[in-house]
Amino acid sequence: MKKVLVINCGSSSLKYQLIDMDTEEVVAKGLAERIGIDGSRVKHTPAGKDSVLIEEPMPDHNKAVELVLGALTDKEHGVISDMSEITAVGHRVVHGGEKFKSSVLITEEVISAIEECNDLAPLHNPANLIGIRACQKLMPTTPMVAVFDTAFHQTMPEKAFLYAIPYKYYEKYGVRRYGFHGTSHRFVSERVAAILGKKPEEIKTIVCHLGNGASVAAVCHGKSIDTSMGLTPLEGLIMGTRSGDMDPAILSFLMGKSKLNIDQMMNVLNKESGILGLSSGLSSDFREIEAGVKEGNVAAQRANDAFVYRVAKYIGAYTAAMNGVDAIAFTAGLGENNAAIRKEICSYLGYLGVEIDDERNAVRGKETVVSSDQSKVKVLLVPTNEELMIARDTMELVG
Ligand code: ADP
Repeated sequence: MKKVLVINCGSSSLKYQLIDMDTEEVVAKGLAERIGIDGSRVKHTPAGKDSVLIEEPMPDHNKAVELVLGALTDKEHGVISDMSEITAVGHRVVHGGEKFKSSVLITEEVISAIEECNDLAPLHNPANLIGIRACQKLMPTTPMVAVFDTAFHQTMPEKAFLYAIPYKYYEKYGVRRYGFHGTSHRFVSERVAAILGKKPEEIKTIVCHLGNGASVAAVCHGKSIDTSMGLTPLEGLIMGTRSGDMDPAILSFLMGKSKLNIDQMMNVLNKESGILGLSSGLSSDFREIEAGVKEGNVAAQRANDAFVYRVAKYIGAYTAAMNGVDAIAFTAGLGENNAAIRKEICSYLGYLGVEIDDERNAVRGKETVVSSDQSKVKVLLVPTNEELMIARDTMELVG
């Protein structure tokens, strides 16, 4: 029995899933949080059982990995008898720059190349590397694989990924659109093809990954040819707390008016904008926005309408980019759970012959075609599964 441990390591947290690759079922999953902070703990959930809370100091990620491995092999709530049952470890890595166009087996050269991408994702990549090092320390003979959020979008053509600023900035610093959520866009677009009984090469799909972070991707014949996030995840759609697209001159204008320095300004754009900002601070969570809309709250309605409009605009743009679209898929927290938002976005797409079937659309978190039989473009709800994609890539490379 082959089992893959999937690790998603942040600066103070570490999410994990152990996946049985024969059945592709999750055997156990969990979260180590507050690493390096007081009150650190691991919430460990074996499949089909109650969660266990392990409260122990975790001064660093080495200790976090040690506790996770301890939980997985524990006599009572463990799911494997020995660490040697873990065939391989798959690590989520946020930024692979232009160096990584697909997942790779981790070697010292790979680690150095990931380090070279640190500048592009200073909050994420160093944490991902700490997770890799910590696992290597405790599992020195277990093969490890890096799976990048950016890799799927490396097929974008130059005309899509270049910003119209002096070309030297691309040459010198790699300033270009990279895109994120690639593992999700790949998983969902492949599922769309399978559900429709087609090969990925046969269809043009627009994937709307609508979570707290949100992005749209144009997947033409199995390849990402454009996506809404850019050099960083700040560009594109209106998100929970991120602004998405805006006139860059707003930065200097507001910095002058509000006397903000650049760090404070970036904090506004990353943490105080988007749905939270547009709703005048009501919430970054769409559940509260939805409730507000129902109560006739003007601020909630404003945020809702702007969000929906931006997604619809991107779908129109990507239909043009691909000269057509066969399928539109919704995924992630909002895309999978909010039927009203799917319906509202699609209400802009009548010109494409998109028609939602309300009964089919009244569903959550389940693979479903939500468009009517007459709809000229298929609309689907496809729950994403980035961990499974990471585990599959890992197995493929480890053999
Ligand atoms: P993240 O980018 O943090 O992974 P998620 O994919 O969890 O975000 O999406 C968060 C968004 O999805 C929130 O706006 C939230 O309202 C919505 N969402 C998540 N789960 C549900 C649910 N069960 N019902 C309704 N909305 C949900």
